[in-house]
Amino acid sequence: MGHSDPHDSLPVMVPRSEKRLAPISPERIRHLRQHLIDVILDLRGPEAEPSTAATSEPDGFVKLVTRAACALCKGVCCSHGGDHGYIDIEALTRFRLLHSWLSAEKVVMMYLGRIPHTAYRDSCIFHGKKGCTLDRSMRSDVCNSYFCDGLSAYIDSGATPEPTIVLAGDTEKMHVSPVLTP
Ligand code: SF4
Ligand code: SF4
Repeated sequence: MGHSDPHDSLPVMVPRSEKRLAPISPERIRHLRQHLIDVILDLRGPEAEPSTAATSEPDGFVKLVTRAACALCKGVCCSHGGDHGYIDIEALTRFRLLHSWLSAEKVVMMYLGRIPHTAYRDSCIFHGKKGCTLDRSMRSDVCNSYFCDGLSAYIDSGATPEPTIVLAGDTEKMHVSPVLTP
């Protein structure tokens, strides 16, 4: 059973959020609605370009590791998402091109409809208990492409898949995933 031994496994280090869930206030919803309206109004300008960045996740075993890591970390990198969720003109232009039959009002409603009932305190308005409530096609480029240092190092290493464990948090309160096997 050597392959499932954590001590023989490749460690991937990520942080961990200890934030608590709280109901979303009407004020936060108002902020997001206003932000989306402001961006939609900007779309009427001449230079709105759709995002061309990929919205897909990494493939194969890397996807398994990144999903496990982000789940154990509980979304530290979403903590600056505020009431805007990084939704910008590029993201909304891409979304509207994919759904050209939808009115601007309907697009705003679709985003507002993704606000979870409870979200992590002091984090993004879309940061719910099970992670981001937006489909990847609705997220901004930064949300679709960002990986923290620990995950970037793992992904960029291009290592041949091998038994891997995720360590989340600091040494005082470390959370360890099961051994992930290719
Ligand atoms: S990318 Fe890093 S910081 Fe962000 S949720 Fe995943 S493990 Fe956490
Ligand atoms: S939109 Fe989703 S991925 Fe982006 S910061 Fe908010 S919760 Fe995180």
